[in-house]
Amino acid sequence: MRLSEYFLPTIKETPTEAQIVSHRLMLRAGMVRQSSAGIYSWLPMGFRVLKKIEQIVREEQDAIGCQEMLMPTIQPADLWRESDRYDAYGPEMLRITDRHDRDMLYGPTNEEQITDIFRGAVRSYRDLPRLLYHIQWKFRDEVRPRFGVMRGREFLMKDAYSFDLDFAGAKHSYNKMFIAYLRTFQRLGLSAIPMAAESGPIGGDMSHEFLILADTGESEIACHKDLVAMDWESMSLESDSDMDTLVSSLTDYYAATDEQRDPQAEGKLGDDLIVARGIEVGHIFYFGTKYSEAMNAIVTGPDGQDVAVEMGSYGIGVSRLVGAIIEASHDDNGIIWPPSVAPFTVGLINLKAGDDACDKACEGIYESLQTAGVEVLYDDRTGRAGVKFAEMDLIGLPWQLVVGPRGLKEGKVELKERRSGERQELSLEAALNGLTG
Ligand code: ATP
Ligand code: MG
Repeated sequence: MRLSEYFLPTIKETPTEAQIVSHRLMLRAGMVRQSSAGIYSWLPMGFRVLKKIEQIVREEQDAIGCQEMLMPTIQPADLWRESDRYDAYGPEMLRITDRHDRDMLYGPTNEEQITDIFRGAVRSYRDLPRLLYHIQWKFRDEVRPRFGVMRGREFLMKDAYSFDLDFAGAKHSYNKMFIAYLRTFQRLGLSAIPMAAESGPIGGDMSHEFLILADTGESEIACHKDLVAMDWESMSLESDSDMDTLVSSLTDYYAATDEQRDPQAEGKLGDDLIVARGIEVGHIFYFGTKYSEAMNAIVTGPDGQDVAVEMGSYGIGVSRLVGAIIEASHDDNGIIWPPSVAPFTVGLINLKAGDDACDKACEGIYESLQTAGVEVLYDDRTGRAGVKFAEMDLIGLPWQLVVGPRGLKEGKVELKERRSGERQELSLEAALNGLTG
């Protein structure tokens, strides 16, 4: 992509409406624009990142046999009356009446919808287990939408649902999803710590939220210090490792979100306790037969008896993750994208656009990188070097390749790594090899 043609409305001043760094940087880097409170348009740069995150989430769901589908954003109210949640959900639910006076709603989540689909299709235990998911926009009329896409009213969520015959099966699905979440966050370059979360009406210990520690996080959490010190990003998560053992080894540590905190357990931890703030990026949740009983999602078991299926639901905040990753990875100059979600891998800077030698070298590099499948944003505009450098730092691409007339005379270009700030003078060939190799 040529920057001269790209729709990238960056902002130099600090937007006053933004309270936290990720929100400021997303506005400044031309990633999103607010449409109304908590509702955003995704501009090309932001959209690329959103899609990359979505794709990693998708691949890790697919890898555990969770099947992608797509349910609508608008749902009939009657489904929610069956589960008794229509009134219970309260003012966070956006309620709509259609022209025939039917009550509809913009889905805040999809338990009812998926249970309805499931009950209409599955009759026998032989069709279990099943894991289904979709990645779809949700709407929750949050009291206080804030922090940009981190607490929006409209937001993109991956939500998965498991259907099993019995508790043992449900626990297996839960643990599979637990590991899939660890893999997902690892690929996103995040240290997301699983913590015991509110488990709802059925109790039990199968509810975990995954949190990234950050001062700007909205939840207060407490956990064992080993969990914070753990190397989440290079933890071995081989598929043949014993899943249950791995899950237990992590969930045996004390780690709790707000409501789940236990003063007694914390007292015993002493110096090992860390109290901090966190951003919830995912939530996995076992709720047994809550919806299957209320909505008659029944299968015939091996012994011919009817059983209500055991269910769980598993959410990841895909759009929230864009902000959360920036909270976890930035410096004073701007965003520092982890390579896996970077909108482009390389920012190619032509220091003297219009100069024959510079243009020719840059065009060649631009073409070679593209041919090699490396995503490159080429700053081919005329303008001051300082402005170009600042903008490249702001948008946070992992590599900057700087081509100027002085270096070119000696056949040299400069390669800068955004994260470390390290610069290397290299021959054109060496730089290309480094980026494509
Ligand atoms: P929170 O406690 O932050 O309000 P929640 O517990 O109500 O979230 P879940 O129903 O567990 O959220 O939704 C699954 C995931 O969706 C959350 O882990 C979070 O990452 C994301 N999410 C929830 N609400 C929002 C929101 N208003 N804006 C952006 N992402 C959200
Ligand atoms: Mg939650």
